[in-house]
Amino acid sequence: MSDLGAQLRLAGRDVLLVGGPAKALGLVGRLLDRQAAITVVAPSVATSIQDLAERGALAWHARTYAPADLTGIALVVACPTGGPEDEALERVRDDADRAGILVADLQADTYRRAAGAGAGAGAGASPGPTPNPSTGPTPGPTGEARTVGSVTLVGGGPGDPGLLTLAGLEAVRDADVVVVDRLAPLEVLRDLGPHVQVIDVAKIPRGRFTPQERINEVLLDHARAGRKVVRLKGGDPFVFGRGMEEVLACREAGVPVDVIPGVTSAVAAPALAGVPVTHRGLVQGFAVISGHAAPDDPRSTVDWASLAASGVSIVVLMGVETLPRIAAALVAAGREAQTPVACIMDAATTRQRVATTTLGELSAGRIPPGVSAPAVTVVGAVAQFAAQPAPDA
Ligand code: SAH
Repeated sequence: MSDLGAQLRLAGRDVLLVGGPAKALGLVGRLLDRQAAITVVAPSVATSIQDLAERGALAWHARTYAPADLTGIALVVACPTGGPEDEALERVRDDADRAGILVADLQADTYRRAAGAGAGAGAGASPGPTPNPSTGPTPGPTGEARTVGSVTLVGGGPGDPGLLTLAGLEAVRDADVVVVDRLAPLEVLRDLGPHVQVIDVAKIPRGRFTPQERINEVLLDHARAGRKVVRLKGGDPFVFGRGMEEVLACREAGVPVDVIPGVTSAVAAPALAGVPVTHRGLVQGFAVISGHAAPDDPRSTVDWASLAASGVSIVVLMGVETLPRIAAALVAAGREAQTPVACIMDAATTRQRVATTTLGELSAGRIPPGVSAPAVTVVGAVAQFAAQPAPDA
């Protein structure tokens, strides 16, 4: 797929994936970037695929394959998961062949050994890929030979693989195991070797998720088994990414850990919408705030009145639901109702959208149409630079 796929014209074409394991995330990212219309048919899928379905980026039918699924399809990809539903894949290939539909296989050879480990959030440490030989054996605490793995936290940037750093890409390519989040640049997973295990630990807001303690365990278990583990996160690992919790878990366990910073969506999403977070003569700084706990929420530790008076651009992450309450708090503290606001949704993807409004409108509960998570919101004079897409673009 990664070779031939580059030449196929897929924009607007219907592509069917039968099976939705984590190992398919790279392909899904690639197909989304190529603007294919994706349908996934599988009783269960990796969390990030479910998340994309809930965000309307693809369609997921939570059931087994039926021949009628092939109607109108240009390309079928058989994605083994290691589960009993894989038995249907042979029929999928036959049906597609008979109907003259192109069929591709997602690197099938290692799935049975991975035994469903990549199929979703409940992934364990074994069975898994064999450790990278270059890691080398070292004596364990009891004297027997044992390999020592490592954990590398990689900031994946806001979603476009082009915004992943070179160091981050190198780490991903060198990994035995990639533990991935839903907002990471999924497309970079497309050219991992067949031995590389992909584990999806996405957290869907108010939905399916892997608890942080479990994520820490997965990282440690694989590293202790001698594997090079990459923890691929969206944006920067230390900007609301719970990165330090993972670093501390590794340190406590004596597992070597390092961090490759990433391009945070807090700066990149505005930039991609034409909004600079600072601008000479206009604003001398910016603050990045989590909107998770609204200003009137007892859990909030942010002094919104001081922020309102600070004169810096305010960048809110995880704040779509709380936007009206945030705007109301800022206006109540004296920030002008005319202050421009820009919301950037699904930044750095083919689905990126921009919406503009004012603090006053938001504080009255009027959220512009199309505003949905994930979004970065910029409050302040710089938001006036937001580039509106052409009306029929
Ligand atoms: N560590 C990440 C942030 C994690 S918190 C970073 O540095 O970017 C998750 C929040 O980040 C989302 O709720 C949203 O506010 C923002 N976000 C991440 N990726 C985004 C994207 N591609 N488009 C818009 N917002 C995004």
